[in-house]
Amino acid sequence: MVKTLYCQKCKKEVEIVLSEAGPHVKACCNECNSYLKFISQTELKGETTMLEIFYRIPDSKYFEGVFLEEFRGCIQLAAGKAGKEGTNYKKWAFPQGADRKPGEKAIPVSVNLGPRHTAIEILEKMLAELKGSHGKEEPQKKTVAEQKSIGGMDEPDGGIPF
Ligand SMILES: [Zn+2]
Repeated sequence: MVKTLYCQKCKKEVEIVLSEAGPHVKACCNECNSYLKFISQTELKGETTMLEIFYRIPDSKYFEGVFLEEFRGCIQLAAGKAGKEGTNYKKWAFPQGADRKPGEKAIPVSVNLGPRHTAIEILEKMLAELKGSHGKEEPQKKTVAEQKSIGGMDEPDGGIPF
């Protein structure tokens, strides 16, 4: 669990003060009280992510981007937003249960790519697809059956509105 963080104002590693802020816990500088970062509940429980990189979409009107992270031994992509002062936020959502009602616990909007080797395999295939379909080759046409399976549940509203 994180106990110290770098404070831009104090220009050094400082002790942090935690306070609740929705599904997150807010970490502030013990010395100047500046906001430092949000810490997720899982991070607090010691399940710290090994890897967390944010890629901002250059021309995104809403400062959107994607996180690449490692969590519980799996590589995940998570929807994010670039905030002010260099702080990036994850998008959180309440996942629909079997009854189609929003769940009680919010989770980051993310895609699991499995362990590192599986993630690399999937990403390389995606990369090849993207590079191959750029210009000369047509992207592989999906059959109707495949398209249906991609959509998952037959949700009339098209799923989560992100
Ligand atoms: Zn400070």
